[in-house]
Amino acid sequence: MGSGGMIVMDEDTCMVDIAKFFLEFTVDESCGKCSPCRIGTKRMYELLTKITDGTGTLEDIDALEEVALSLKNGSLCALGQTAANPILSTLKHFREEYVEHVVDKKCRCHVCKGLTEFYIDPEICKKCSLCAKKCPVNAITGEVGKVAYSIDTTKCIKCGACIENCKFKAVKKR
Ligand code: SF4
Ligand code: SF4
Ligand code: SF4
Repeated sequence: MGSGGMIVMDEDTCMVDIAKFFLEFTVDESCGKCSPCRIGTKRMYELLTKITDGTGTLEDIDALEEVALSLKNGSLCALGQTAANPILSTLKHFREEYVEHVVDKKCRCHVCKGLTEFYIDPEICKKCSLCAKKCPVNAITGEVGKVAYSIDTTKCIKCGACIENCKFKAVKKR
């Protein structure tokens, strides 16, 4: 992924999100001496943020690749020269995940919050109300023991408290 290390990931790791995660480090660490790295890392981060937020386009993927190559070829030191590796590597091997984010507006791993929705399966919900008590924005309604609980997606801030607290795994992501 980066500059020579090996990391084992499974199918629950979003390749776009992980590229953004690694880039965050180089955005912080760039000393700013040369413009390909100083400007390029920030532009790439903005493009990746657009894509993971669900507002990216196919042109953004092309622009991302173009900036990544400029960074690799034009940076002064190893930090800038390797900063784009996670992006170039994931674009090479998992490009379809980038395309899914911008065309289908879907994150197959349900990691990118802008593309993920929480919902409660009424068939599994035991109507215990615990999720509603834990929700910080009162987005969950139902009636203890009577009406299955459900999430108002217009209020939900995708904090994940409901999914963490439901013992019956009735809260899901799509
Ligand atoms: S490539 Fe190296 S010298 Fe250039 S801005 Fe990045 S860290 Fe500084
Ligand atoms: S915590 Fe789970 S079982 Fe209880 S009301 Fe919420 S979704 Fe239903
Ligand atoms: S993800 Fe957070 S904000 Fe959304 S319904 Fe669950 S607890 Fe509430």
